[in-house]
Amino acid sequence: MTTITAVKECSTTNCAYNNDGCRAFAITIGGSTAKATCGTFIALDARGGLQVADGHVGACQRLECRHNTDLMCTAEMITVGDAANCVSYEIL
Ligand code: SF4
Repeated sequence: MTTITAVKECSTTNCAYNNDGCRAFAITIGGSTAKATCGTFIALDARGGLQVADGHVGACQRLECRHNTDLMCTAEMITVGDAANCVSYEIL
């Protein structure tokens, strides 16, 4: 793998890493059942992470997603919805 998937957009505005976009250096996508969700999400009375919104997917546990290879995301970019869900998730 030569590229790391960018978090193009994240609508979960109550996440401490969301400040005009995802500022976590790398997020982990996990979740259960049919919903792939961001395991890095945390609601705190604070904002943190990088100085700019330049988040990436560090790891993805959703092997059944068509974009997943070896527990990594191969999509060029993903979008995270307002429930910390990976909108780009596509079940095989
Ligand atoms: S698009 Fe698929 S492989 Fe990529 S982060 Fe979302 S659920 Fe994981």
